[in-house]
Amino acid sequence: MTEIALPMPAASVMTEPGELGRFGEYGGRYVPESLVPACAAVEEAFREAWADPRFHRDLDRLLAVHAGRPTALTPAWRLSAELGVNVLLKREDLAHTGSHKINNVLGQALLAQRMGKTRILAETGAGQHGVATATAAALLGLEATIFMGEVDIERQALNVFRMKMLGAEVIPVTSGTRTLKDSTSEAMRHWVTCVDEAYYCLGSVMGPHPYPWMVREFQRVIGDEARRQCAAELTTGNPDYVVACIGGGSNAAGTFAGFADTPAQLIGVEAEGGAAIAAGKTGVLHGFRSYLLQDENGQVSEAHSIAAGLDYPGIGPEHAYLKDMGRARYVTVSDAEVIPAVHRLARTEGILPALESAHAIAWVIRAAESGELPPWSTVLVTLSGRGDKDMATLMEAS
Ligand SMILES: *Cc1c(COP(=O)(O)O)cnc(C)c1O
Repeated sequence: MTEIALPMPAASVMTEPGELGRFGEYGGRYVPESLVPACAAVEEAFREAWADPRFHRDLDRLLAVHAGRPTALTPAWRLSAELGVNVLLKREDLAHTGSHKINNVLGQALLAQRMGKTRILAETGAGQHGVATATAAALLGLEATIFMGEVDIERQALNVFRMKMLGAEVIPVTSGTRTLKDSTSEAMRHWVTCVDEAYYCLGSVMGPHPYPWMVREFQRVIGDEARRQCAAELTTGNPDYVVACIGGGSNAAGTFAGFADTPAQLIGVEAEGGAAIAAGKTGVLHGFRSYLLQDENGQVSEAHSIAAGLDYPGIGPEHAYLKDMGRARYVTVSDAEVIPAVHRLARTEGILPALESAHAIAWVIRAAESGELPPWSTVLVTLSGRGDKDMATLMEAS
């Protein structure tokens, strides 16, 4: 493991990407000619909206009255006593629909409405982003069309039913491995045919510019709230460590954004079977350059994790950049470490975390018990979601 580099000065990290949406050599806008104007239109609309106090007022209100923000910051008293470090939990599991995903989709749905679009397209793997998108579309009176791999439709019947209950159309994707990677490609292909009336709502800090930047900005509410809450809760003001799990990297990016200009060490936790940074190589997928899991021929491989939300073979380009800069550190946790972490949090704090979020908890437990975390250092962990959706998996595993 490399030494942790000194944090970068305030203004240079987690601001706007450079030209063409680049974070260093990552990011960009690698899309077919026909989608370039569509991405440019989203970028222009987002820039205008983000500079408009009325947009922020509308979004903040939706986040408050519909999504239940601000979410709590919960000191994990009993777990802290056991581990000998001070653990604080940012409770995205308490947000409407059960995870941080609602923050992003409310922002993008409001943007779609502002752009005069009537329909929202989205990809989904496990179905969580599909459900969140269908929720935001219903709230704002927009149509929702969700692309989902045939294999995932079978595995995630409950979320398919939820989306339909919310009025969304679910389109089965039959190409390739019939999972998330192909549903994302299919949603982008479909967007070409209907850009005039449709808005493409991406689920994480990935895809062509401006999505990685825009989604991070919509998720930074997690980090901004946590920063204020930490200032009120801690005599030291800021945590020493800020930890979040990583699928595409949106809950981590949103959390990190609130602390990038503090001395806090930023830790992203990947699933061992989806560790794009730990085990991937650079390449281009779904419109952006980043680290990707690839086979020996450079073909993008499938990710495998007990947590369906971490089953993405890539990672957001800004994380690749933060890693190269040494501003954030990326670690992996195995499936075998995740289940005990769920049980530990359930028994000590009365919280059943999502399997994704339990990756972050598992790393904290490992790092505290191995002595890597100094005694009574302060660790902020983003609990990205609640565990209700994972009960069947947990029953099988116990
Ligand atoms: C989707 C999901 C994730 C992974 O997405 P990121 O973009 O990496 O944040 C993590 N946790 C939960 C609960 C999810 O639903």
